[in-house]
Amino acid sequence: MTQKTIAAQACAEGVGIHSGRRSHVRLCPAAAGTGIRFRVAGVEIPADLDHVVDTRRCTSLGTEAARLDTPEHLLAALFCLQVDNLVVEVDAPELPILDGSAAPWVELIRQAGVVDMGVAAPVRRLLREVRLEQGGSIYEARPADGLSIQCEVRYDHPLLGVQSGSWCDDAFADALAPARTYGFIEEVEALLARGLALGGSLDNALIIYQDHYSSELRMPQEPLCHKALDLVGDLSLIGARPAAAITAVRPGHAGNVAFGRLLAQALEP
Ligand SMILES: [Zn+2]
Repeated sequence: MTQKTIAAQACAEGVGIHSGRRSHVRLCPAAAGTGIRFRVAGVEIPADLDHVVDTRRCTSLGTEAARLDTPEHLLAALFCLQVDNLVVEVDAPELPILDGSAAPWVELIRQAGVVDMGVAAPVRRLLREVRLEQGGSIYEARPADGLSIQCEVRYDHPLLGVQSGSWCDDAFADALAPARTYGFIEEVEALLARGLALGGSLDNALIIYQDHYSSELRMPQEPLCHKALDLVGDLSLIGARPAAAITAVRPGHAGNVAFGRLLAQALEP
């Protein structure tokens, strides 16, 4: 596997789901070995596990000088398309939510063109099995030839119940990227009452009511697929493609990041 960047700059704009603030984003090609780096109002934040500063509502990256909320869907899109090197300039502290999925990012990156840089990409073997239980989430990874993810969610809800699925690395983009951010109506009402989710709307989230969804599902297990997408985005912060079969039950951002740290320690140097 070889490192990749994009062929030309690409731009997007939209509102952040938490802040409601409008931001403009420019994806810029970068040299081999750069990794993914955000530049928030001129301050650089590397997209890695050392720069995760919050995982309560989204995965937030930051330094002492700047912070960036909700990078996970763009990160997932880049990982799905195997783009290793990119500088992402953004003029506000939250990335736009767009349609709530990673599909618009995937489309933007594909339109810009993914280019092979002819330098080996960091695929890393897993040296031992890894397991983490945290706050109701269970994660496992075992050594494998390539990366795959098996994911399960369990809800006590008439529409959802148990959903599970598994995907190989080369299927992530098409199978997971279109799955939208979702929320249960009670949670959404509580967030709005607290002045949160200011940019949330029916255009960028799937709302789950007791007996119906706010819009037609894009795939049969869309909530599950979105959880797997978030996991891919969070694990991309490892900065390498782990050759591992990963299992995640009820994953969430805090657990994803903690598991990513354990996984990184168990990878060959
Ligand atoms: Zn998400």
